[in-house]
Amino acid sequence: MDLQLFKSTNSIDLSYLQLSVNLIEEQLVNLHQTENEQLVAEHVQALYLQHNLMIYLPLVVSHFQQLKFLDVSSNQLTEISDQLVHLSQLTTLIAKNNMLNDNALPKDFGMLENLEELNLSGNSFTTISPQILELTKLKGLLMGANQINHVPADIMKLQKLQVLYLGGNNLTEIPAEMGHLGDLQALILCQNQLQSLPSTISHLHQLRSLALHKNRLTTLPPEIVQLKGLAELSLRDNPLVVRFIRDMIYVPPTLLELSARTIKIKNIPYGQDELPKNLISYLQTAHHCLNPKCKGVYFDARVEHVKFVDFCGKYKIPLLQYLCSPRCKTQPAFYMSDSDCSEDDEEIPFSRLKKVLLG
Ligand SMILES: [Zn+2]
Repeated sequence: MDLQLFKSTNSIDLSYLQLSVNLIEEQLVNLHQTENEQLVAEHVQALYLQHNLMIYLPLVVSHFQQLKFLDVSSNQLTEISDQLVHLSQLTTLIAKNNMLNDNALPKDFGMLENLEELNLSGNSFTTISPQILELTKLKGLLMGANQINHVPADIMKLQKLQVLYLGGNNLTEIPAEMGHLGDLQALILCQNQLQSLPSTISHLHQLRSLALHKNRLTTLPPEIVQLKGLAELSLRDNPLVVRFIRDMIYVPPTLLELSARTIKIKNIPYGQDELPKNLISYLQTAHHCLNPKCKGVYFDARVEHVKFVDFCGKYKIPLLQYLCSPRCKTQPAFYMSDSDCSEDDEEIPFSRLKKVLLG
């Protein structure tokens, strides 16, 4: 070990040495003994142990009380040992490409309260463990290439999150609560089995990059156009790119809805003298039909409709929207927009997109 190097950089680098856990422990313990132990413990801020053969973390690691950065990636770890939680200064933990699963984290993992970046990519997690959701200062959570099939609603506890990488997992849906991650700038969901996205994704006002390629998406929520800061959107290898979806699901409106529609459309006056309270509040739930050429309203019965929005003549992106009746789709000019960059106000946010990756 080059002690001079350690003193100038405040770091110890034992990476790429194919060392077993015993040999790494030996090296680190020797360092403690040859140098003033206090000095070592107080100065080492970064420990590079990646690309070795560790099957667990040596106890001595937890003696580096000032450690801020720990890289143990590409070893053979099956667990993160309990002692690690005492590294209260740790801001970055990189443990990608190991053999960690849902039971691998200490139950007090949340004690690493200063952790800002956690990289657990390339392991065998099937969910985002509850202990991870206690790390409320986390800015970056990387769990790509695991077997994650569920994102807990409690993901919203990670309010400082700026980067969430969940590419290469088994996700079929993501929770609406994801929309509460107001600081999120990059959301990577590529290579999953997502069929739709919650409309709350439009609440992520800081989002700049959204990776959705290699999923099963047939539509995007129309609210996505509200993401004004979005600069990169990848959509290749989704059904929405190769296949235009025109299937409609339509349940005819009830008599209650039909009469309520008439009251709304004809502007028939009503008050508490004529109608019971529940009907008045029902009438207040009317939605305007999204077809600009239709003055209609709907309540519960609506037509799911896919509108193709143009990306400056190159691509048509299907957005899901709701109409009042199947008749609303009989005007081709409405649901297939022109192929040039038209003045359609729904397209303006997309013109800000710097990169749309479709193929
Ligand atoms: Zn309509």
